Amino acid sequence: MRVLLSRLPRRPWTAVLTAAALLASGFTAMSASGAESGCRVGYTVNKWSGGYTAQIKVTNLGPALNGWRLTWTYTGDQRVTSAWNATVTQTGGSVVAVDAGWNGALATGGTAEFGLQGTWRTADPAPGDFALNGVACGGDGTPPPTTPPPTTPPPTTPPPTTPPPTTPPPGPACDSAVICSDFEDQTGPAPSGAWRFTAPDCQGTGTAAVDTAVAHSGSRSLRVDGRAGYCNHAFVAATADLSSVGPVMYVRMWVRHTTALPAAHVTFASLPDASQGGRSLRVGGQNGALQWNRESDDATLPAQSPAGVALSRPLPTGSWQCLRFAIDTAAPGLDTWLGDERIPGLHADGVPTHDIDQQWLVRTTPPRPTALRLGWESYGTGDDTLWFDDVAVGSAPIGC
Ligand code: CA
Repeated sequence: MRVLLSRLPRRPWTAVLTAAALLASGFTAMSASGAESGCRVGYTVNKWSGGYTAQIKVTNLGPALNGWRLTWTYTGDQRVTSAWNATVTQTGGSVVAVDAGWNGALATGGTAEFGLQGTWRTADPAPGDFALNGVACGGDGTPPPTTPPPTTPPPTTPPPTTPPPTTPPPGPACDSAVICSDFEDQTGPAPSGAWRFTAPDCQGTGTAAVDTAVAHSGSRSLRVDGRAGYCNHAFVAATADLSSVGPVMYVRMWVRHTTALPAAHVTFASLPDASQGGRSLRVGGQNGALQWNRESDDATLPAQSPAGVALSRPLPTGSWQCLRFAIDTAAPGLDTWLGDERIPGLHADGVPTHDIDQQWLVRTTPPRPTALRLGWESYGTGDDTLWFDDVAVGSAPIGC
């Protein structure tokens, strides 16, 4: 089978945050070795049961190149499903990565980095037979002294910037965001000021209140006691109009909940979406793991197949969790981070991937969220008590 994957489908923020996520997660690194000169490859993999991402850094130790092609062989059953900053194709175990255009010029000693995501089932040994433009990579080659500098014009697309430090910046770091709330300004038990209680369609036993007993920062947070059944939904809505936040809307929240996400569908963040006629883009869970849901057509991200669910993550209970979203309002693009991990099953891009975003990308109009509601909505079974704190929404990435 030959799979053609997209060339540079992501925006620069994706590359930056992906790199940060990889740096912050528990990855292992290896380098190809051997007697041949020509190139050196760092292959850094972050894997979990059934899936992996790999960040690949190739250093050219030979003459300058105007365009590069890196090949290797997977001896396990790895299958590449998407890639960024390179065009990656796989035929059987043979993989070919071709530069993305803007990163095609490689001076002697120059490096290029790209990444990919894939699946594996029984074995996923790191490859060891990297070759750059047909020359096997070693790592100890000496470049010829007379190599001319690259003569290609400057790239028209800027390369990804240096990954940020792996330690998130202290504090909310959202002072210039449209929403930047630690709820310390809440004076009474009922949400007030920039937040208000809402039960959009019907009201039952769900409640929401300012809590002074549990907080991520300071001494106040929002507490939601959600109950099963749609009409027991309860939300706290930000009064801020988010319709001009973008083109990528970044959302950060700290959330702490009590009961593991149920098998049935639930929502704890709901964003009214102008591109769905005001229906919501929802973040919640199903089959025990986090998921996105689009109200207008009930599409989910990931697909709720066992393989899709396995690429998402549960929302841990009993501790504060940093949850972040990047919602592209101008192109297909949606990302989700739990802590510093970008969740592979909660990633949509322009390339339909089976078990992940194939169904999600059926709708080609990007979302246009206009507001943010935090709370609990259950469509069947599932009670939960949740707290939200240090919530931010803006047009630039926001740290945890
Ligand atoms: Ca607080």
